[in-house]
Amino acid sequence: MLRTYWHCFKYLAQTAWRSFGRFPRECALCGYYGKFLGHGYPFVCDSLCPKCGSLESHRLLALANRDYDFFSDRKILHLAPDSQIRGLVLAHQPRSYVTADRSAPGVDVKENIEALTIDDHSFDVVICLHVLEHVNDRRAASELFRILKPGGILLAMFPIVEGWEDTFEGPGGSTPEERLLYFDQRSRARFFGRDARGRLAAPGFIVEEYTAIEPNVSRYGLTRGEKVFICSRPTMRRDIAMEHAVRAGIANGIDMPSRLHLPSS
Ligand SMILES: [Zn+2]
Repeated sequence: MLRTYWHCFKYLAQTAWRSFGRFPRECALCGYYGKFLGHGYPFVCDSLCPKCGSLESHRLLALANRDYDFFSDRKILHLAPDSQIRGLVLAHQPRSYVTADRSAPGVDVKENIEALTIDDHSFDVVICLHVLEHVNDRRAASELFRILKPGGILLAMFPIVEGWEDTFEGPGGSTPEERLLYFDQRSRARFFGRDARGRLAAPGFIVEEYTAIEPNVSRYGLTRGEKVFICSRPTMRRDIAMEHAVRAGIANGIDMPSRLHLPSS
């Protein structure tokens, strides 16, 4: 038994040493090149850019934006905003940029994502990072579909367990301690399974994916297989036909977007 505790202590000491970085990485947001810091619970090495504070998901979205230019001259709504993505969006000169949260200070508007007070067809792009796993995602997806213009795009990121067919939401009425056990966080309500795509598509979105693959994972310090879900609200007749295909379960899960049509507002 003493031997087991010794192994545990050795692992802790190694983790502490590695928290100052193992390999040099490149930040897709600020251009920093060098060692990243460890971060998070559970702990992840080479996660935090020491210059701008970006994490893996921020850098993945920045890479997706390099390929698809989501923000230039668009009307953007950023839910549960963070300074890293705010900087990324503003650097690309959006037409307008609004931040919203239910309770966080310093946002432009207070909004409940499950019952938004925003008019229909108000935004070209909605950014929703690490929110849907904490709220009623079906209501939220429906609301986000409603406020997007036809042709608009929802950029959603959340943890997904690809080995699970179905989303796990725990036993009903979980206590905060039970949620910590099941979901690593007291405020998290679920871990999405592969059915997350169908849940996003339910209001009518076409769901496509931008995936963290090599060599970008190693170069930029990304989480292997993490995804930006790019959810388009159909606009033209062709898109409506596509929407019907998605609802029938034919078109979802397409890797790497091939048909993004942001509205030219
Ligand atoms: Zn950085």
